[in-house]
Amino acid sequence: MSNKQAISLEFFPPRDIAAQEKLVRSAKQLLALRPAYVSVTFGAGGSTRAGTADTVKLMQKLGCDAAPHLSCIGASRSELADILDVYREQGIKRIVALRGDLPSGMGGDGGELHYASELVSFIREHSGDWFHIEVAAYPEMHPQAISAQADLDHFLGKVQAGANSAITQYFFNADAYYDFVDRVQARGVDIPVVPGIMPITNYTQLARFSNMCGAEIPRWIRLRLADYGDDKASIKAFGIDVISRMSQDLLDNGAPGLHFYTLNNAEVTLAIWKRLSLEG
Ligand code: FAD
Repeated sequence: MSNKQAISLEFFPPRDIAAQEKLVRSAKQLLALRPAYVSVTFGAGGSTRAGTADTVKLMQKLGCDAAPHLSCIGASRSELADILDVYREQGIKRIVALRGDLPSGMGGDGGELHYASELVSFIREHSGDWFHIEVAAYPEMHPQAISAQADLDHFLGKVQAGANSAITQYFFNADAYYDFVDRVQARGVDIPVVPGIMPITNYTQLARFSNMCGAEIPRWIRLRLADYGDDKASIKAFGIDVISRMSQDLLDNGAPGLHFYTLNNAEVTLAIWKRLSLEG
């Protein structure tokens, strides 16, 4: 494994032509800085299954390595096998393997695999070692986990099933990440756990999303953001400062790289990235 600290980027499939044009503009600006790869999210319940595949092709055309996210909730083994075969034919070498979430209000998932660890096993069974498999990690615990210990065990189960590396849910408290990595390593597991970095640009949206995914926004950040009200420029400037500082702290303390949740916007991710000094 190289010691190079790599930057990867996450995009989501655009909903219409205008969103696609914006994505291409953002991607071109960000690809100029040569990320290690870009990943493309996958909507649970099949909502953007084709969107993911199309966006992955688009990213490949723009000249970068693309890693589709693949979630197993609600899917059958044969559907998953078809998707894996198509990706393999397209030359895709990396997959982000997830359980996914059902849209709220839906009962049982109706699928054949219920946890990401089962998807990882299935990918290994079906495709051998063709894919580098990334899985999700939760330094502040997955919101549905019954305990931090159980969540750690389940994370390690994904590694045992064949995951090569992990990307974390975003967080604003680097200690949660260090503690998680220490606990993983204490169990004898040494795969790269790359911090997922969420830029701060919109307080209401961030608060709603953080609530859902169990990422804590520290009191001082909440209060500062609340003070700015609708002053978008100040929120952006404050967010760039806070996230750049945390990102550099993570890199200086051994994070193997960073994975930016770009939200298909180049500006803030670029501003943060340009402030970082990376090893390698
Ligand atoms: P799992 O690892 O299966 O864990 C889910 C929950 O089940 C946890 O609470 C875990 O502790 C528990 N668990 C695991 N195994 C067992 C077991 N054997 N018995 C009992 N409990 C168990 N969602 C999307 O829909 N599309 C995306 O593209 C997407 N991309 C993501 C990218 C990253 C980097 C991250 C961090 C998340 C992403 N998500 C995405 C969200 C993710 O799908 C949700 O967080 C989902 O709720 C859990 O997925 P997982 O793969 O972590 O599940």
